[in-house]
Amino acid sequence: MIELHQLRKTYAGGVVALDGVDLTVAAGEVFGVVGRSGAGKSTLLRTVNLLERPDSGTVRVAGQDLTALPAARLRAARHRIGMIFQHFNLLRGRTVAANVALPLTLAGVARAQRRGRVAELLDLVGLADKATEYPARLSGGQRQRVAIARALATRPDVLLSDEATSALDPYTTVEVLDLLRDLNQRLGLTVLLITHDLGVVDRICDRVGVLSEGRLLEAGPVADLAANP
Ligand code: ADP
Ligand code: ADP
Repeated sequence: MIELHQLRKTYAGGVVALDGVDLTVAAGEVFGVVGRSGAGKSTLLRTVNLLERPDSGTVRVAGQDLTALPAARLRAARHRIGMIFQHFNLLRGRTVAANVALPLTLAGVARAQRRGRVAELLDLVGLADKATEYPARLSGGQRQRVAIARALATRPDVLLSDEATSALDPYTTVEVLDLLRDLNQRLGLTVLLITHDLGVVDRICDRVGVLSEGRLLEAGPVADLAANP
């Protein structure tokens, strides 16, 4: 589902963030990337939807080489890729329903269809009763669930998670991870996540890779990492 080939990225100033990364994530897999701060994890994740354009290498998602697509087709391809963040990135001035509806509005989905889809998505993440609330009135875990609903609005095949539980307490972390695992299994969603928390890897990842100085050192079953921490 995700095929990264020889990705290189050097930032202005000469920092080599990605130094020849190869990675294949199968459909329906939950893959975790761990590594120290500054290792390149965020850059790697952001190249998968081309928020960050690599200097060289290819990014294929669902068989399509995103690096080769013209702008309009890249926008369409991005509907197949959802993303969630450490600080949720919800719009504070909009209701939960409006936040979840945003990608549908941007994709040109008509108002009547949006309403039904938003209700379905809120149901999926267990927040059917929060449609008219504002994010400020929700707990951290509820906010992340709104963000997950928004990320899934356009029915993506792939969900990218950038430290999605790092701002949450341990109990809420487990709740959000279990939701992600549940969505992975029910929808066949492929998940690529980055984290600095080995507990996250242990709970939901099928495979894990260690990123160090822009190189992906291992990519194997989680048990391998536990044996060689
Ligand atoms: P991680 O997510 O593992 O902490 P990042 O991908 O954020 O790592 O960063 C990798 C390296 O690239 C770091 O040295 C960071 O300082 C540098 N970096 C990240 N973004 C930029 C940027 N926009 N401009 C310059 N350097 C950057
Ligand atoms: P607008 O479409 O004017 O931005 P809102 O901000 O109220 O309207 O709602 C944004 C989206 O959320 C709309 O697509 C709307 O259909 C949907 N929506 C609003 N309230 C609900 C609700 N209670 N249940 C499901 N969807 C809702």
